[in-house]
Amino acid sequence: MSIKTRFAPSPTGYLHVGGARTALFSWLHAKKNNGQFVLRIEDTDLERSTQESVDAILEGMEWLGLEYDEGPVYQTQRFDRYKEIIQQLLDQNDAYYCYCSKEELDNLREQQMANKEKPRYNGKCRHHVEVKEGVNPVIRFRNPEDGIVVLNDAVKGEIKIANKELDDLIIARSDGSPTYNLTVVVDDMDMEITDVVRGDDHVNNTPRQINILKALGADLPRYAHLPMILGDDGARLSKRHGAVSVMQYRDEGYLPEALLNYLVRLGWSHGDQELFTRDEMIQLFELSDVNVAASAFNTEKLLWINHQYIMNSEPELVAKHLSWHMQQRDIDVDSEGPELVEIVKAQRERSKTLVDMAEASLYFYKDFDGYDAKADKKNFKAGSDDVLADLLAQFSQVAEWDGTALHNIVLATAERLELKLGKVAQPLRVAVSGAGMSPSIDVTLALLGREKTLKRIQAAIDYIKSK
Ligand code: GLU
Repeated sequence: MSIKTRFAPSPTGYLHVGGARTALFSWLHAKKNNGQFVLRIEDTDLERSTQESVDAILEGMEWLGLEYDEGPVYQTQRFDRYKEIIQQLLDQNDAYYCYCSKEELDNLREQQMANKEKPRYNGKCRHHVEVKEGVNPVIRFRNPEDGIVVLNDAVKGEIKIANKELDDLIIARSDGSPTYNLTVVVDDMDMEITDVVRGDDHVNNTPRQINILKALGADLPRYAHLPMILGDDGARLSKRHGAVSVMQYRDEGYLPEALLNYLVRLGWSHGDQELFTRDEMIQLFELSDVNVAASAFNTEKLLWINHQYIMNSEPELVAKHLSWHMQQRDIDVDSEGPELVEIVKAQRERSKTLVDMAEASLYFYKDFDGYDAKADKKNFKAGSDDVLADLLAQFSQVAEWDGTALHNIVLATAERLELKLGKVAQPLRVAVSGAGMSPSIDVTLALLGREKTLKRIQAAIDYIKSK
């Protein structure tokens, strides 16, 4: 039978790193087996679900390139189907109405806590339903009383739960709306999901879901519960640890390929290999190789991986993503300056993120505001205006604006004026870029072009004179 997996986020926030890792593993398991991957939006909690968050999840999936074969399926569009199943369970006597009031249930819980018992529903209405006028009952699943549920988790191994540990859970609220455990079961059954890959915060729900699936005569999927992701401090990963939204990583200059590569290593390994192409991930991924223990998020490592991807990916691909960052900075890369691919080649060794790269490349496209104070003080001294004027005169004469030719002029000028190369090249660098760091001077000048270079050298001369 072919494999079908799903990612089933609740749209109550952005797509965070943990969700993205779950989506990735689920996607990989499907791809690896030539199976299907479904995106299901679990939006039945009307109070907490928002369209904004649906959009954020879709945007995150798209940015990461986690394409789905089916969906997005919205649970809110399947209410009729859930009602039908709830009715079926009632008809089969696998579910019953429960009129117990909140007060009764609260008292029960208090008593159980006082007796140091696990708080659970006592099954009062299971045996004898007392209809109360004017009360809308909830509907509970009649969980089997005997036997054990055996779950062979692909990650955690065998888990056994005795049915007497499980109480009769609510499958429909008093307003008739279905609860999480019911909707998941109906969807996994209807969509013919063969493998449920999800966070291990759901592992306690699984035996209950298995019992409902059995009551419905459905085939049981295989389950794989993924360990938690912790922050570098060992606590569960949360906003406190900085960026947790996938799109925030885009904003901070990460390549989606780098983030995916980082995420695949969170809880999964293949020997000590760190870098995987998408195809390699698909080929090598096995759910059985997922760690049981939680894994810790390590921003330093993510940064290292990002730098590897910036340096080693096709410059065209990096340029495509860099283009977004330039747009964010109001740079019209098509009309104002050099090809972005050339920028990528010139800057990739020194840029760990695309934000670094974009920030360090603005001067190729638009004039900077003032000079970096340190670079100014160090390089714009009395006399450096004469050096710049000397260069300007020669640069104005070159027939073809070529990096090597310009570099040779800089070298020859230093020799003729009996100056160290730095005394010529550094003032020039600050003049054209505004700061003391840029790619090599030949590359910088070539990328900048004749017009901007000449104009900026003249501006620097005027500035030094005015000091
Ligand atoms: N909607 C659930 C969540 O976002 C996931 C349910 C599932 O994967 O079964 O936590």
